Amino acid sequence: MVSDDKPEPGIYERDLDRGPANYQPLTPLTFLAWSASVYPGKTAVIHGDARYSYAEFDARCRRLASALAGRGIGPGDTVAVMAPNVPAMLEAHYGVPMIGAVLNALNFRLDAGGIAFILGHGEARALITDREFSPVIKDALDRLGRDILVIDIDDPLAEGGELLGEKDYEAFLAEGDPDFAWEPPADEWRAIALNYTSGTTGNPKGVVFHHRGAFQNAFGNAMVFGLSRETVYLWTLPMFHCNGWTFTWGVTAVGGTHVCLRKVDPALIFPMIERHGVTHMCGAPIVLNTLIHAPDEHKIALGRVVDVATGGAAPPSAVIAAMERMGFRVLHLYGLTETYGPAAYCAWQGDWDDLDQDGKTARMARQGVRYPTLSDLMIADPETMRPVPADGETMGEVMVRGNTVMKGYLKNPGATGEAFKGGWLRTGDLGVMHGDGYMEIKDRSKDIIISGGENISSLEVEEALYSHPKVMEAAVVAKPDDKWGEVPCAFVTPKPGAEDDITADEIIAFCRERIAHFKAPKLVVFGPLPKTSTGKIQKFTLRDRAKEL
Ligand code: ADP
Repeated sequence: MVSDDKPEPGIYERDLDRGPANYQPLTPLTFLAWSASVYPGKTAVIHGDARYSYAEFDARCRRLASALAGRGIGPGDTVAVMAPNVPAMLEAHYGVPMIGAVLNALNFRLDAGGIAFILGHGEARALITDREFSPVIKDALDRLGRDILVIDIDDPLAEGGELLGEKDYEAFLAEGDPDFAWEPPADEWRAIALNYTSGTTGNPKGVVFHHRGAFQNAFGNAMVFGLSRETVYLWTLPMFHCNGWTFTWGVTAVGGTHVCLRKVDPALIFPMIERHGVTHMCGAPIVLNTLIHAPDEHKIALGRVVDVATGGAAPPSAVIAAMERMGFRVLHLYGLTETYGPAAYCAWQGDWDDLDQDGKTARMARQGVRYPTLSDLMIADPETMRPVPADGETMGEVMVRGNTVMKGYLKNPGATGEAFKGGWLRTGDLGVMHGDGYMEIKDRSKDIIISGGENISSLEVEEALYSHPKVMEAAVVAKPDDKWGEVPCAFVTPKPGAEDDITADEIIAFCRERIAHFKAPKLVVFGPLPKTSTGKIQKFTLRDRAKEL
């Protein structure tokens, strides 16, 4: 740790001081300043038919900063944004922190109660909101019960919605100075963003990011995902999710092009890939599944390899294989809001080139190794904190530490202390370490199924289910059982067209051929799966359902 009160020993302690010439706070804001000076005329942002060059993008962000400052907003104030992936949302990632304020990007799938809680807890001073979400926002502002500055995004591509605020975003930008001279934060440890976790238990927690971590994770992304000035990045991942896993800053760092997208819709995505020459995109496995199962008339054969990074939930190897068949190159990422999004990735090894497709996808389905920008990762016993043997069998909890771990939870020292107990961030994810140093997640601490005293990884059973040709989505949870304690219960969404041609017996027999008999589901229920606001399958709802069966 850098510490001023522990000088270096000997000759290195004398006359070698830290000063403005050799020590500047790390902040992703410098990425924009750099791209705007190196590539002023290059396209930075595309939205529909609109395009902004890097010079224009920079000027718009400065205007936003200046306009906010003109309204008395400054260091340590929270500015919330409720918007899909539109230019205003991206600009807020720069304009808001340029004045030392903190960006709170809201999950647009939340209801009014959830939004009101976050605006209240985060003490938002201003809200920039897309008209499409007006019904929810109007209700949330009523519940909030205090006045804040509200600015509308009147996007021509939005579908309906009334204008609620004092003025429109473009008029607000016009108030600001395009040459506004912003200052980097006094300290890189200052907050840059506030992101609430989806809160599957109790109220959501406000994860606080600092400038230093945002800088480093954005860099880590650029390194592991191979971003460059040629990058054309399609925004299929919501920017509200951990600031788009910090790609909001990472794509700018290399002078790449951001292609905005309001909605994950294959009918839009395939033509946009072709039209703009998209090179990179990200999304949860569910997004990949949407592309795989898109109707044929929406699919367009890719003219070049498109890199797609996926994470947020384990991508079944069948999903990876189907994407690769369509011409995508898949990169598997693992992380959580507390780690600025991705913290680990499945780094490719040269000798995997020689494996057959099944061998490759089996390797790629593992969560892999730490980001080069993360200091340390281990799978350890949560009591003793001792790493488990790298035998691919012994389960432990994934723990990480480094500069891309959150500052902590806002106004919640109890939860922060719990998360950091022992000097590591405890992720709550359970996994094994393989002999080659690659980790594989097996479950979340609460999701594991214990049957007759044996642990069953729900992910392993799901992996078997996903390889069935008639299965589109699957989730496995524990069902209480008098004899075994718990047994695995599967919830399955059949592929379109297979609904009337699939039976529970067939699924169970299929699993018994692939995994240990005691791990095969005892019960199979067909139908749609409940999802959280970030598109994750709600296992707690399924657990409740399983109890009733
Ligand atoms: P929430 O915990 O509310 O779902 P996050 O977006 O922070 O919100 O989710 C992080 C969690 O998602 C991780 O702790 C882990 O359980 C899961 N996750 C993320 N990436 C992967 C992955 N590649 N494989 C398996 N699980 C993953």
